[in-house]
Amino acid sequence: MLSDPTPTTRVLYLAGWGRSGSTLAESLLDQVPGLVGVGEVKFLWERGLQQNRRCSCGTSLRSCPFWVDVLTEAYGGIPGDDEVERLDAASRRFRTRHLPGLLLRSPERTDPDGLGWYYDRLRRLYAAVAAVSGARTVVDSSKFPSYLTALLQTPGLDLRVAHIVRDPRAVAYSWQRHKHDPDAPGGAQMPRMHPGFTALYWSAWNLATERIARRAGLPYLRFRYEDLVADPAGTLGAIVDLGGEPGAVLPFGADGPLVGRTHQVSGNPMRLRSAAVPLRLDDEWTTHMPPRHRYLTGAVTVPLRHRYGYRR
Ligand SMILES: [Zn+2]
Repeated sequence: MLSDPTPTTRVLYLAGWGRSGSTLAESLLDQVPGLVGVGEVKFLWERGLQQNRRCSCGTSLRSCPFWVDVLTEAYGGIPGDDEVERLDAASRRFRTRHLPGLLLRSPERTDPDGLGWYYDRLRRLYAAVAAVSGARTVVDSSKFPSYLTALLQTPGLDLRVAHIVRDPRAVAYSWQRHKHDPDAPGGAQMPRMHPGFTALYWSAWNLATERIARRAGLPYLRFRYEDLVADPAGTLGAIVDLGGEPGAVLPFGADGPLVGRTHQVSGNPMRLRSAAVPLRLDDEWTTHMPPRHRYLTGAVTVPLRHRYGYRR
């Protein structure tokens, strides 16, 4: 079990709105020496421990040797049901609908919300991930701007933000697709959303992410999914620099970068793929998206879309 005080843990927070390619980015980053990608840590309590969903290694989370070791290192074992319930309830205070209130809070590291115990649990968790994996940087793809404000309150973290954005029309198209989620209880579909709502969320999440990172003075890098696929070496290199491992060897095979199997909790089902897959651009939306959805999404997301370089 970790004793106090622990040294600082470097955390590279992957931010951005859902279906923007963060699972892909994290899977690539996980293969860079010195970095470890552990998925959407925000959902460790609910989807991981309460629902016992699968880790990306294919095992249920409570049986995954990596997570058992992490939880043992952090807390002396898998926390009991009451404690997990308490941790999940605390995490739920960082939902999107609470974001306006969270943004109005003072960014100073006081304990205005009585959650000091929760931030201490998080501190132990990230330190344990680093200790068990041997990595110097923990990549967390929780993405929520609201959860980023929880990490800002957590002591002992050296926090950096890599913000992934993707053409909102591609994102809206992805949110419309019928996609089986092998990870969800009862074999459900992945959630779907109308393009109008996707466009509003896309704008609000991305703006909130920028604002929180800037206000807190965090090291910050915004990158585009399309650039990650077109120039993986250049884009990954910049993210790895931000993550504190400049000059690290990037995960390139003979045919380009490869995505492998990791220990990510929650996230896109692509993380459950067992074999390495070559990187390719998913641009099905350019040929299959209904024009009315394309125009609606395009109109709602101006001017942020233009600022991110999505003009065509
Ligand atoms: Zn695992």
